[in-house]
Amino acid sequence: MPSILESVLDANRRYALNFGDKKNLAMPPARRFAILTCMDARLDPAKFAGLNEGDAHVIRNAGGRASDDAIRSLVISYKLLGTREWFVIHHTDCGMETFTDEIMRGLLAKSLDHAVLESDGWHDRGSGSGTSEAQYIDWLTIRNQEESVVDDVQRLRRHPLVPPWIPIHGFLYDVRSGVLQPVAAASAIGAAK
Ligand code: ZN
Repeated sequence: MPSILESVLDANRRYALNFGDKKNLAMPPARRFAILTCMDARLDPAKFAGLNEGDAHVIRNAGGRASDDAIRSLVISYKLLGTREWFVIHHTDCGMETFTDEIMRGLLAKSLDHAVLESDGWHDRGSGSGTSEAQYIDWLTIRNQEESVVDDVQRLRRHPLVPPWIPIHGFLYDVRSGVLQPVAAASAIGAAK
């Protein structure tokens, strides 16, 4: 069985063989929109939103949250690269619903090994020592899926670096069906003015 590294490089060799016209793609996204979504491995924005190389910006982090760094990317996306419509897409069964700041800080204070999710929550099975460094990070966990979409669209809408003319749509992606479910309250807040 090939290593992770070998399998990635092998796939890349095959990809590059058929690279073709993609060498001519321009830097600004051709379809002029950006998606902010979760890093969850079950979500493939290129597939669920019909993207090809060069079409759109996809900004991903744990939860698809409107963190300071996500905002940095979105501002660059419109200001320098011409996007004019944004999507905030969270999803069902998100890992960010399974813990709180307190739990994450506790796990990392115990060890830097993998933690395990059991029916009663996360447990640290590692050995060695952890660190208190986790207390300085806001882990941006999620308590309610729709609420987190509304909160993030609201943060973007009110942000002084985000112009009022960019429509910001809120959605929940259903990991059981692949369907994008609209979050009406979020899109109402995110409407262009
Ligand atoms: Zn997620």
